[in-house]
Amino acid sequence: MIKDLGFETRCVHGAYKAESGQPQVLPIVQNTTYRYYNAKDVAELFDLDSPNHMYTRLGSPTVDKFEQKMALLEGGTAGMAASAGQAATLITILNICSAGDHVISATNIYGGTHNLFEVSLKRLGIDVELIDQDLPLEEIVKHARPNTKALFGETLGNPALSVLDIEKFARAAGEMGVPLIVDNTLASPALCRPIEYGANIVVQSTTKYADGHGSCVGGCVVEGGNFNWEAGGRFPELTEPDQSYHGIRFYEKFGDGAFCMRLKAVMVRDFGCTMAPMNAYLTHQGLQTLHLRMERHSSNALALAKHLKDHPMVDWIVYPGLEGDRYHELAKKYLPKGASGVLSFGVKGGREAGEKFLENLDLTSIVVHVGDIRTSVLHPASTTHRQLSEEDQLAAGITPSLIRVSVGLETIDDIIADFDQALERLK
Ligand SMILES: *Cc1c(COP(=O)(O)O)cnc(C)c1O
Repeated sequence: MIKDLGFETRCVHGAYKAESGQPQVLPIVQNTTYRYYNAKDVAELFDLDSPNHMYTRLGSPTVDKFEQKMALLEGGTAGMAASAGQAATLITILNICSAGDHVISATNIYGGTHNLFEVSLKRLGIDVELIDQDLPLEEIVKHARPNTKALFGETLGNPALSVLDIEKFARAAGEMGVPLIVDNTLASPALCRPIEYGANIVVQSTTKYADGHGSCVGGCVVEGGNFNWEAGGRFPELTEPDQSYHGIRFYEKFGDGAFCMRLKAVMVRDFGCTMAPMNAYLTHQGLQTLHLRMERHSSNALALAKHLKDHPMVDWIVYPGLEGDRYHELAKKYLPKGASGVLSFGVKGGREAGEKFLENLDLTSIVVHVGDIRTSVLHPASTTHRQLSEEDQLAAGITPSLIRVSVGLETIDDIIADFDQALERLK
């Protein structure tokens, strides 16, 4: 069984195996629909009694394989792809929440998720409460209400670079009787598999490290198969009859794959946030080298972090892989193979110096992206967060001089030399 093989083998061989004379590489099945010869076969599809396909919005062979691979890599029981990481998070919440429900989330989350939670979900009547993820267990549990449906956090917060104490969060979720949902984008399953620490659902933007080459936007949800949706009676979406499928009960019928089956059969059916076959193919291509890339992203980031830490033009640096970092102890526990490729630092001289530094870079690109093979930087104060006042920027953890770096796979000496010459020219 491929499930029992090492992580690296799962990256290379997981989910797709060529039959004799068939393509060695996962083929792209690029079409919208499927032909059948009798009504009974089609009826079975509509009753969710058949593994076959009918229409690409609801699933297709290349996307299936990609989902299976993500599930294998995260150590879950099922996967469901989405058009983007944002869509993956949205449908995960909507799969179990409706107007009037409450979700508790760590504050240190991706900006897009922050907007989704604070603005768009609020407009739908779902109240997301943000809490400090470093609170002790008892304090976290105190935020629970009878209508709480989920606890949410990021393995490695983007851009705060905080490390989530997943076991603490899993215990808190367990005490509240709700699933723990973890966004594993920045760590990727190569560095951390949250389900092994008790998370119930893992979401990620596969746009970042999973793809890794800046080719396509995508997202994926993986379920751990380790949550009892019946206990507590809080999740009627999964345990009560679904009228749009003549009364099937997802948990009863699909067991440890119920969450993803409902994502596909209801969420993606109704909202249409399907991953395209071509994007599944490209992302699957990336996953085949994920283990190797994450190793090098991490070692390059650590080397650059060590170098910048002692640089006279650098004010401060945040990288959880660095000894002395606020989250270093948690990183040693949850990210023992490396703390991924993202770091942030401040240059001396504030916002103006930050902007100038970016312009001085040559090999390194300015892009609104992380997780690419090419080293890239962003100056949030003058770009992603420029609409905010300096006060609001500070509240969001964005200091005027903050530079976020996504360390790529180039020769580390070349990356360091580029940063050195850009810092030198600030003087
Ligand atoms: C980028 C990102 C997302 C959103 O993913 P998209 O694919 O851009 O929609 C969600 N979470 C984290 C941590 C991210 O970095």
